[in-house]
Formats: sequence, C-alpha cells, structure tokens
Amino acid sequence: MGIPSERPSRPSIPAPAADPWSVERSASQYLINGWGAPYFGINDRGHVSVFPTGQGRPAIDLFELTESLRARGVEPPLLIRFADVVGHRIQQINRAFEQAIAEYGYQGRYRGVYPVKVNQERHLVDEVIEFGKPWDFGLEAGSKPELLIALAAMSSPGGLIVCNGYKDEQYIETALLAQRLDKTVIVVLERLEEVDIVLRAYRKLGIRPQLGVRAKLTARGVGRWKDSAGERAKFGLSTVEICELVDRLAACGLTDCLLLLHHHIGSQISSIIPIKNALQEASHIYVELKKMGCQMGYLDVGGGLAIDYDGSRTDFHASTNYELSEYAADVVAHIQGACKGADVPVPTIVSESGRAIAAHHSVLVFEVVSASTVRLGDPVVPRSDAHRLLQELYETYQGILPKNVQESWHDANQAKEEAQNLFKYGYLSLRERAQAERLFWNCCEKIQETMGRLKFVPEELHGLEQAMSATYYCNFSVFQSAPDVWAIDQLFPIMPIHRLDEEPRVRATLADVTCDSDGVIDRFIDLEDERRTVDVHPYHESDPYYLGMFLNGAYQEILGDLHNLFGDTNAVHIRATDDSYQIKHVVKGDSIADVLRYVEYDPLAMSESVRKQAERALEEGKLDNAQVRTLLRHYEHALRSYTYLTSDD
Ligand SMILES: *Cc1c(COP(=O)(O)O)cnc(C)c1O
Repeated sequence: MGIPSERPSRPSIPAPAADPWSVERSASQYLINGWGAPYFGINDRGHVSVFPTGQGRPAIDLFELTESLRARGVEPPLLIRFADVVGHRIQQINRAFEQAIAEYGYQGRYRGVYPVKVNQERHLVDEVIEFGKPWDFGLEAGSKPELLIALAAMSSPGGLIVCNGYKDEQYIETALLAQRLDKTVIVVLERLEEVDIVLRAYRKLGIRPQLGVRAKLTARGVGRWKDSAGERAKFGLSTVEICELVDRLAACGLTDCLLLLHHHIGSQISSIIPIKNALQEASHIYVELKKMGCQMGYLDVGGGLAIDYDGSRTDFHASTNYELSEYAADVVAHIQGACKGADVPVPTIVSESGRAIAAHHSVLVFEVVSASTVRLGDPVVPRSDAHRLLQELYETYQGILPKNVQESWHDANQAKEEAQNLFKYGYLSLRERAQAERLFWNCCEKIQETMGRLKFVPEELHGLEQAMSATYYCNFSVFQSAPDVWAIDQLFPIMPIHRLDEEPRVRATLADVTCDSDGVIDRFIDLEDERRTVDVHPYHESDPYYLGMFLNGAYQEILGDLHNLFGDTNAVHIRATDDSYQIKHVVKGDSIADVLRYVEYDPLAMSESVRKQAERALEEGKLDNAQVRTLLRHYEHALRSYTYLTSDD
C-alpha cells in the first residue's frame, strides 16, 4: 500500500523546497532537540542516536540495535532500557541540589529518594541504588509490596527509606524492625488513624518509631493531579490533625520521634508557581513543628518535577516551564528563608522525583505492519449519461478555489449525503454510490491542498486533515505499553527511528493490534498545543519500518494491562561501555501460555481439549492425519510464542 507517489505534498509540512531533505529538518520536524537532549539525536545516516551517558559518546544507533536484536530472535515490540540514562538523571538532580546548596550557603544537605511505584522493575531499582550510591540516594515505598522491595534492594547500611501510602500493622511493624538493620526507615503518617497502629507497634516491639507526617496543603498543583493536594485531598493531615498528632505523641513521650514533614502536590507539575506556593506553606509548617518541640530534621518535598515531553518549555501539561536548576534553587531558597526567619536549623532536604528520574531511560520500538490511506488518483470523469449527482459532484470538484473552499465543502458533503439517501431508497446502484464517495474524497483532497494557500482556515475544516490522514497499523498494544495515552491523553514523543534523511510525506494516525477502537494514537506533540497526526514515511511492505515512542520509562510498564491478552513486551537492558554498549539482560516478554495462566487457564489442559476434538474429527473423517498434526503443532507452537505478531516460525 502506501501513498501514490504523484500525491502532492501537504501544505503545512515544510514545503519540498529546492534543497533536499536533511536530518536537520527531521530534527526540527520531530522536535527531538527539545525533548530528547542530551540523550537522543539523529545521526548522519538518518537514524536515531542514543547517548546514554548524556555526553556525546558512546552513541548507539537505535535502528541498528533493533535490527541486531531482531537478528538474534528478540522481536519487536521491544522495550529498550538505557540504564546509564537513569544514572545521568540521578547525577543531574543531585548536582542541581549541590549547586543550589552551595549558592545559598545552605547549612544542610540533600538526599533524594526514588519512588518505587514509578517503575518497580528489579534491574531498574538495582540500577537506581547502584548509580545513587555516591549520593546515598534512597527509596520511597508507597505500599507493603514496595516496602518489601525497598528493604531487600537497599541492603547497605545507612540507606534512607521513606514509607508512604496506606499502612496496616504488618507494614508498620516491618518498618520499625527494619530500623534495626542500620537503615533510616521513616514511616510517614498519611492519616490520623495510623498513629494508633504505630503506638501499638511501638508498645509491642519496644522500638521507638521514626515518623514523618504528610501535610495536606492548601496550595495545589495544576493539571491532572491538582486534586492530589488541597483540602479535599485523599492523603495527608490537615493543620488541625497535625496539632492533634503532636499532642498525642507528646502524651506518650514520643515528640522526638517525629522527624520528617512531607508533602506531594501531584505529578508532572508543569508550572513552577504551585511548586513555590507549596514550598512556602510546607516550610512554615516545618518551622512550626520544630517550635512545638518535635525533633524534625527532614523536609520531604515529594515528587512532581515535570518532564518536557513536547520540547516546548511551556506550562502546557506535556511540558514544563522551569529547569532542574530553578527547581532546586527554589526548594533550597524557600526552606532556607523560612528557617532563617524563625532561627530554626535547616533540615536535610528530601525529594521524591520519580518521573524525572525514570521517564527518559526507556524507548519502545515497534513496527508498522500495514498502512491504509485514502487512495485516490485523479477523479474519474462521469460519463455524460451518468447520474445527475455524479455530474454535480464533479463540477464541485472542478470549481474548488481558495475563495470558495467552505462553500465547496458544504456542496460536497451535501452531495455525499444525498448519494447515501438515494442508495437507501434504491435510486442509485452500489457502483454509482461508490463513484460518488470517491468523488467526495477527491474534493476533500483538493480542498485540503487549497487550504494550504489560505491565511485563515475555517473552523469546520480543521478536522479534514485528520480525516484525510493515513492509518498506520502498528504491532504493539497501547493498553500494555502506553496506557496513559488511553487513560489520560498523555503525549509521548513518537517518531520513526530511521529514514530521517528522507522527507516524511505521509500524515498518519497510529492504530495498535488490539481490536479496541480506543487502541489508537491520534494526539502527538507539537510546539503549540498538539497535533492530530504524525508525519511518517511511505510504508513499503518489503522493508521494516520502525517507530519509537520515547520518554516512557515512568508509570507505563506497571499500569499496562492485558487487553486482548497482549502481554509484556520483550525488554532489553543496555549498558554503555567506553565507545559502545553491552546487553546486560534480555527479559523475554510474555508468551501466550503466560498470559493465559494470568487468567487462570491451564495451557496443558487447553491443548488436551483441542487434541480430543481433533481425534474425534479424525475418526469422523473430517480431518486427515496430516491436518490433525498441523493443527496441534500450530496450537502448541502458539502457546509458547510471543503474544504480538511475529515473523519467526
Ligand atoms: C507518585 C508519587 C511520587 C512521584 O511523583 P513524580 O511526579 O513521578 O515525581 C512521589 N511521592 C509520592 C508520595 C507519590 O505518590
């Protein structure tokens, strides 16, 4: 399939000027320098290059990596993780705080923690700990299973573990006992009721707890997570409750056990303003707690540090209007200001950035498996004895001019509707109706080209570009690999990983291999707002065509689900070496038998059932021996194979 080569290029795509297409033009087309730097770029072969250490080298050619993995049987869709990117992110965050601390002469230190919920994958958590060692980077757990991960993974003494989320007795007792493993394990009270559980555990175990408290701030985030804070938030103690907590701890002689104040106003806070407001409020609560006689020592500013998914550097939800250095400086300055004013010693600053650490490190590479386009040549001129409607539509087509696009659009639509009605009542044959529809699409195409010459495009014509776009069918599942695209209209940068020295002349939306009509991607990054199509290259069945979805290392994997029983994708862990890379782990994706077991099927019993049915068909002469063998071989081979479309057999 693909688009006919004589199809004229689309107006708002940079015009096919006299100078040839270049990788630089691809870079600006896909905004890769905005969202990708310093980890992603385009090399002079027109392939996406990955710089996992954030320096210029090593450079890994993503297309070649994909092809070489495929050659050894690791098929796309493929999640490729670059652990060094996580290392670089951790380094950048720590350096930003070190710099701010030096600049303000702050008398305390910074200790970040990685919120395990962002991506719990074992190798990744191990890598966070490994790369975080120089800075004593800790972990944050938001549930009992995550606490179990944190305790096992953080095996060296001195580690910091912050415990958030809903807690029961077992959770709290485990946390208290773990303090004796030479770790700082701080249990953050998120609800007042948790105090009772803590007090019971303290009496039972005789271990004094190390406590934190999450404040419910009036300052709120922006965008999707604005309800994570504010008076109606799910978590956190109001000022009334905080005072009650302090009194209850005092009554038990435990005021020295309250060490940490925590707040978290949501994720992807794209504007710095709500962050500043929250800091101001939290810093003063900290100072007050100190003045009320609590031990304190830590102020935990939560997560929310945003990622620039579209490279626009704005406060749009898929972007951020501040840099890491500004964030760190604001945190340090606000805390310092409040403490100085009250003559209170400054705390150790803790932050829980998850997205900002994990998002950049993984790329999903997936393959286009077919393309459908509105395939048009020149319009077929109706014969002189053809139906009146066809004559009229052809006249509309011929008459399309910049000054009457809107009128032509109305005429074409009216004629199309009339054709449908005439067909319904038997006055138009199927061929005539098909001819009318074809002429209608000819009109759409010409209107779209003509619109390119207009300064102002009428509102009602905005949807035309999307209606005229191609659909590229891709071998992956939105629900498994990019659930936030479906759930919250999250935008991820998506672009071809090769052929970038060639002009992307096709506008497309993407459809996945699930049979769900929501399994599509029709929102893409743009400098202003968003686009409804992405520019891609003509698809040729004979050559693989790969797209990459970038910055999807945070939240997507664990939120992914088994819609249509498409399972985990193959995942590969890459570590940079001096001038190349090493494949550390290949984690095979789910087989069909794996996903069937999740939903309680027994693959052996399933084979057996099909075998019995085949035997019966054999006895009845409906299948012969060879056919039975082929059916059973396919069935059993499929059980062992990848849930996605594969080319190996
Ligand atoms: C989710 C969460 C985080 C991580 O937030 P990011 O926006 O990914 O940085 C940190 N702390 C708490 C309490 C959370 O719930």
